Amino acid sequence: MRQQDLEQLRKEVDGLNVKILDLINERTSLVKKIGKVKEKQGVNRYDPMREREMLNFLKEYNEGPLPNGILDEIFKGIFMSALEIQKDEEKNALLVSRKRKPEDTIVNVNGTKIGDGSQTFVFGPCAVESYEQVKAVAQSIKAKGLTMIRGGAYKPRTSPYDFQGLGLEGLKILRQVADEEGLQVVTEIVTPGHLEEALDYVDVVQIGARNMQNFELLKEAGMINKPVLLKRGMSATIDEFVKAAEYIIAKGNDQIILCERGIRTYETATRNTLDISAVPILKQETHLPVMVDVTHSTGRKDLLLPTAKAAIAVGADGVMAEVHPDPAVALSDAQQQMDIGEFDAFYEEIQRFMKNYATV
Ligand code: PEP
Ligand code: MN
Repeated sequence: MRQQDLEQLRKEVDGLNVKILDLINERTSLVKKIGKVKEKQGVNRYDPMREREMLNFLKEYNEGPLPNGILDEIFKGIFMSALEIQKDEEKNALLVSRKRKPEDTIVNVNGTKIGDGSQTFVFGPCAVESYEQVKAVAQSIKAKGLTMIRGGAYKPRTSPYDFQGLGLEGLKILRQVADEEGLQVVTEIVTPGHLEEALDYVDVVQIGARNMQNFELLKEAGMINKPVLLKRGMSATIDEFVKAAEYIIAKGNDQIILCERGIRTYETATRNTLDISAVPILKQETHLPVMVDVTHSTGRKDLLLPTAKAAIAVGADGVMAEVHPDPAVALSDAQQQMDIGEFDAFYEEIQRFMKNYATV
């Protein structure tokens, strides 16, 4: 074959490539339209029966020279690409998605702003045990110029025989101490039934890891006019975490703080495995503030400081950690809570780190 002929044939192939591409794009647009109709009807976008029918039809129609096995591969690829595009579109259409709302959402807890570029710290005991216990921690928080206190009144425990929290009595203690010290209360609510009465005592409703997919609780939290701190489920993917937040925002409440608290992996050196890369991913994909709970993610006091530094370095909007005046006798999470002296040292070091970091 002459060089000229070869070039001519190549030109024809180039022309066909463009035509095929145009046709695939035309097909993609049509499939998108079908996807919209299916979405309105609430029908699943993926329809394997339909794909089978289309492939069978094409194979019957095919007169070659393309072998049917390769036809299968090519068209499966085309079908899959359309589905992938739609999945991407669905993700970008979420109300929590940064594609949908490019600016950061700033959560306002009675004047304390979370997600405004500064770092917010939430400290407090694992569980509320007594007025004196909460008071000691609150005074130490206040002395540092901080404004938030955490503490569980309803404790979701692995064993039903473990301390379950003081319930309403615990909320009252938190509120009283917080009012005396001028602090905001972050506390976990475990069931929609408790939400309404809790609102009188709480400034931020925490939804814990074990309840991240308690969809009724998420929906109810979406209807309150107080911020929600949503923790990542211990086996939840980032996608599941984001969609849990979507449940809340879909009901009208956009005051959501996401909290990475470690996930369960095969690693036993730490209580959970802190998924530090979840922070920038969540910051990129959503417009919500992201905090890191260094206590539950590590379960180790010696790792609180390094992981808190990592959280700040990677772009977290805040850090949560547990503090107890006498951790050895704590009714829950005794090994992982800082005492007041350790808390002072931790905070001093993290302040120093942030100052240095800011000047880098
Ligand atoms: C807590 O913060 O008190 C708690 C129980 O954490 P998690 O839900 O992340 O386990
Ligand atoms: Mn705890």
